[in-house]
Amino acid sequence: MKSKLMIYSWSMNTAVYIHIPFCAQRCSYCDFNTYAGLDNLIPAYVQAVCQEIEMVGQSLPSSYSKKFHTVYFGGGTPSLLSPEDIQKILIALERNLGFDENVEISLEANPGTLSLEKMKAYVDIGINRLSLGFQSANEHELRLLGRIHTLDDVLKSVEFARLAGLRNLNLDLIYGLPGQSLAEWRHTLQVALSLDVEHLSLYSLTIEEGTSLNAQILQGQLPYPDSDFAADCYELARERLASCGYLHYEISNWAKKRSGEEIYFCRHNLQYWKNREYFGFGAGAHGFVNGFRLVNALHPSTYIEKMILAQSYPFPLSAATVIAHPINREEEMRDTVLLGLRLVEQGVGDLEFAQRFGKTLTQAFPREIHRLLRKRLVEWIETDQRRLRLTRFGQLLGNQAFIEFV
Ligand code: SF4
Repeated sequence: MKSKLMIYSWSMNTAVYIHIPFCAQRCSYCDFNTYAGLDNLIPAYVQAVCQEIEMVGQSLPSSYSKKFHTVYFGGGTPSLLSPEDIQKILIALERNLGFDENVEISLEANPGTLSLEKMKAYVDIGINRLSLGFQSANEHELRLLGRIHTLDDVLKSVEFARLAGLRNLNLDLIYGLPGQSLAEWRHTLQVALSLDVEHLSLYSLTIEEGTSLNAQILQGQLPYPDSDFAADCYELARERLASCGYLHYEISNWAKKRSGEEIYFCRHNLQYWKNREYFGFGAGAHGFVNGFRLVNALHPSTYIEKMILAQSYPFPLSAATVIAHPINREEEMRDTVLLGLRLVEQGVGDLEFAQRFGKTLTQAFPREIHRLLRKRLVEWIETDQRRLRLTRFGQLLGNQAFIEFV
């Protein structure tokens, strides 16, 4: 029997990621490429990013003209940059790459760095999607995570975003904290749901080496997070969010389904999960362009130095590129399944896969799919086409499925 799904079509368009590697302070769990206390580098950094965009724009083949349908300012804390600085980067993108007329422009922001005036200015320059690092509604958990904000800052930021006219808002939440109770997580979910935002991203806390949270756990000051508890949190979230009209479309992501409106998928992240092209600008930014996985110099100072000395480079490289790894057909097929299985509702379309690679999923990966079907981690469904996706059980054990395609 055919089931009815909310299918979003993939696009041949291209995406842009801009990395902003500055934060007010380092959160206790964070191992991202970001730095506290380097705000003095911001003006030179903004100039370097504009230069990199210009450099890639100069070698851009005409086939890319105006195909950029998403821009994502991630970090770090992009909202540490003034609207004027963000605008400089947007102007460089518009001039050198060109936008699709319905471009989605997202900005990651930390509550505590926003005012109504700043929010209005972001909207005025074209930001049409905001992703707020909410994390928790419990003050002691925010302190444990080393966040700079309070719950009140989150509530104000959401209010500012709405007053500024933003219709597309995401909240990031974290669960599975050391010593957390299910009641505390339920409270965070309840507060997040009461804000009626368009999109929610829920992440299980991972303890990364070199972080201060890891040090506290190693010293016995905090218990190691319990994975069974994290699974209970996830299960609770799946139930609560579904009952409030959110569509669970990716392992960690939910989009609001309002009657008569579009579903608020994150179009930028869909580009990654569909294993489609994206350009990355800025320190440590990654890209996937013209068959190459690209990585830029990590530290903002190194990145700025490289851009100061910049000469012209062949497409898709820039002066900041430190890794350019060519992706062969086999790798691209594996990546496409591995990433596509994250789309828990839609999975990987067999027809779509065959159109892209000239063979069906079963022809490409007969043994892998057979093993996963036997373990009940994946299932075939019939919709607009035959699709392979994780089972509900498989969603809890995603890594066991993904490892088949690594
Ligand atoms: S605000 Fe985000 S990027 Fe910055 S330190 Fe905290 S978790 Fe990391």
